[in-house]
Amino acid sequence: VLTIRNISARYSGLDFDVLKDINMEVQPGTTLAIVGESGSGKSTLARVLTGLLQPHTGAVEFDGSILSSALKGRSKQDLQELQMIYQMADVAMNPRQTVGTIIGRPLEFYFGMKGKEQRQRVIQLLDRIELGEEFVDRYPAELSGGQKQRVCIARALAAEPKLIICDEVTSALDPLVAKGILKLLRDLQLKDGVTYIFITHDIAAVREVADTIAVMYQGEVVRYGGKQEVLSPPFDDYTKLLMRSVP
Ligand code: ATP
Ligand code: MG
Repeated sequence: VLTIRNISARYSGLDFDVLKDINMEVQPGTTLAIVGESGSGKSTLARVLTGLLQPHTGAVEFDGSILSSALKGRSKQDLQELQMIYQMADVAMNPRQTVGTIIGRPLEFYFGMKGKEQRQRVIQLLDRIELGEEFVDRYPAELSGGQKQRVCIARALAAEPKLIICDEVTSALDPLVAKGILKLLRDLQLKDGVTYIFITHDIAAVREVADTIAVMYQGEVVRYGGKQEVLSPPFDDYTKLLMRSVP
């Protein structure tokens, strides 16, 4: 279980809290979707969870132990258990490394896996994201947007995490490719029971993947509940607005 308790955070230089007393819980093997308009604080919450921004109140608890609020205070096990996938697959990959190297790195870092064994495992991981062996020696520049995002998913899976945070992972993709990625993430989750936090401004996307939904507005959680509950009437005005903006 991931428990987010009373988190408030701000950036230095700002005179207001970007996150205001956030409380959430994510059950193992489920997906919590965090939706909200641009600027509502979704990525900031992801930064708190990954230790890139220290909250000034509250704590994050993961499977019974408090996660260090600073990245450098985290154990290797904490780092391994919590992986993140970003919107900008381009920025998240070193353009000078092949797909094999990119996916192989966490295998070596976390499990000391090298050489032939590593390559075998990379091929398995590629298979799980529905890419063939021929992708091992390709560079990011030789991949489509959707393929890049798949490689980032495979790299996250390589660490065998318990929790994967996805921040707008489909936003830069065309709708059809985005749909494929959503389906892949959902399938992976149902298969191996990894817990997901799925951040998006696209409330239509959450229908596909979410079990629980938190709706954020100006740094606060304004709705929180099961998918059915949040996506069925009566809607509050803000959720209605988000749903209306869906193309
Ligand atoms: P989007 O959907 O556009 O990604 P978001 O919900 O992820 O939006 P955040 O990136 O969390 O929003 O931003 C929340 C607020 O914090 C915004 O007002 C933003 O301007 C501010 N903010 C974000 N990053 C910083 C930063 N590094 N320094 C100062 N303010 C920031
Ligand atoms: Mg964001």
